[in-house]
Amino acid sequence: LNNNDKQHELNWIKNNGLIPAIIQHSVSGEILMLGYMNKQSMSETEKTGYVTFFSRSKNRLWVKGETSGNLLKFINWYPDCDSDSLLILVLPQGYTCHKNTSSCFYPASTDFSFLYQLENIISMKKKHNYALTQNQKELSSYTSDLYSNGIERIAQKVGEEGLETALAAVSRNSTALVNEAADLIYHLLVLLQHESLTFNKIIQELKNRNKLKNKKIN
Ligand code: AMP
Ligand code: ZN
Ligand code: ZN
Ligand code: ZN
Repeated sequence: LNNNDKQHELNWIKNNGLIPAIIQHSVSGEILMLGYMNKQSMSETEKTGYVTFFSRSKNRLWVKGETSGNLLKFINWYPDCDSDSLLILVLPQGYTCHKNTSSCFYPASTDFSFLYQLENIISMKKKHNYALTQNQKELSSYTSDLYSNGIERIAQKVGEEGLETALAAVSRNSTALVNEAADLIYHLLVLLQHESLTFNKIIQELKNRNKLKNKKIN
């Protein structure tokens, strides 16, 4: 559907020309903010590729990030069941909230979106490690250390943490199980990042398998 079709689908009369738009991170699923769109702001969003709202307080079109630089790269949008609101998927460039948090609803973000933030932190440590001199590497953090030791060491850690998770489970020690599962997921993220794979890629694989399974059932 192009933008014009999308505009025609919406119930503008019911909303007095302003449609509330929920802004969601297109990868992590984190809910970032709520804004209002009119027809012109939808056209601008489509034309520029960055989310433009109609600001009720400024009483004008508002390119989110126009002063802060924290633009929202537009990915896709979906009307709701009765076409009186929009869900807009974005890739934020920096903090979405002017109080310098990723979400205006901070700290209500879901645990899964935190996993994605953790992945970003890990990727920064990986990049950071590659920029270090040999001397600096010796003083660097645990995660940077893993990256300087290479794939064998990281793979070994994933193996160890997997085994520790299994042992905690069979010994019915739920505190240990939580700890070891956290260790396992952390090291798995480090390993995936080392191989330039993202957590999202794994989610996609799981979704695909689920689709196949549903087809077999039907
Ligand atoms: P920006 O669009 O990020 O350059 O911010 C411009 C101004 O809009 C800020 O000074 C705030 O007053 C307001 N603002 C920015 N982000 C938000 C937001 N997520 N929700 C509500 N108001 C915002
Ligand atoms: Zn609705
Ligand atoms: Zn905010
Ligand atoms: Zn462990």
